[in-house]
Amino acid sequence: MGFDICDIDQRQPNRFALRLRAVGGQFTAAQMRIIADIAERYGKGEIHLTTRQGIEIHHVHHHDLDAAHAALEKNGILMGARGPRVRIIIACPGEASCRFGAIDTRAIAAELDRRYFRMEMPHKVKMGVTGCRHNCGKAREADIGVMGSLEPPEWIEEKCLHCNACIETCPVDALSSVDDKHIRDLDKCIRCSTCALNCPAEAWIEAKRHYKLFVGGTLGKQPRLAGVLKENIETTDELFGLIDRALAFYKENGQTKERMGTMLTRLGEEQVFEKLT
Ligand code: SF4
Ligand code: SF4
Ligand code: SF4
Repeated sequence: MGFDICDIDQRQPNRFALRLRAVGGQFTAAQMRIIADIAERYGKGEIHLTTRQGIEIHHVHHHDLDAAHAALEKNGILMGARGPRVRIIIACPGEASCRFGAIDTRAIAAELDRRYFRMEMPHKVKMGVTGCRHNCGKAREADIGVMGSLEPPEWIEEKCLHCNACIETCPVDALSSVDDKHIRDLDKCIRCSTCALNCPAEAWIEAKRHYKLFVGGTLGKQPRLAGVLKENIETTDELFGLIDRALAFYKENGQTKERMGTMLTRLGEEQVFEKLT
């Protein structure tokens, strides 16, 4: 029988759900057609979309597991993961298509997948990448979460047409005009760059982009929001160096079936974060 760590035994005897490896929820249209074909051939013609951007084909008989795996893998569709290891990486679209995206979420998700996918851990490890503080990619609810962040863009007075579009579209009323000068209330500003995005005159200097790294979040039975391990991270080398250290610490100090956040609560999040940074 071709049982794999991505196959989930169902309540129906001898039936399995095949969990596929999506990275950032991305599949090509051609792959989706193949997945649909395999779901019809080996399942019940249904495709299940998971809450973590994954795809599962349910109701595959154990006699068909090898054939279904082979057909998927032949078309470049790899298997996902279950159990105490790093699971599929989720990501919002980020700068590839979202106007608020501050980082290339797909590239970060692909690198996380390349480095850590299926790495053995004390318990499951979920990772999420999100392009901005809107947090569509659920970085704060993941064991490891990466968020893009921006510094507030700088106003260029000479280019300004004084149309007030930026002031009117700022979602938190952080901008005002006093004597034809733009004033930003930094206590209110949420660094979303909407002001620059809505400017017809390119009268803003593009904001500097950073990564913010969250560790120890989870949903499920005992929800916990992740803490900020570090913000204003400028390079991917630093980002992945910190993630390497966080995972190594968890591997060494986490107890069997203890989520990363529970370990942080047990050992003291602040003390652990100090050691890691
Ligand atoms: S988190 Fe930001 S970048 Fe990502 S989809 Fe949501 S709004 Fe867009
Ligand atoms: S960055 Fe966003 S919150 Fe800050 S001033 Fe511009 S529109 Fe307002
Ligand atoms: S949107 Fe641009 S042009 Fe219009 S007031 Fe703001 S900075 Fe000036």
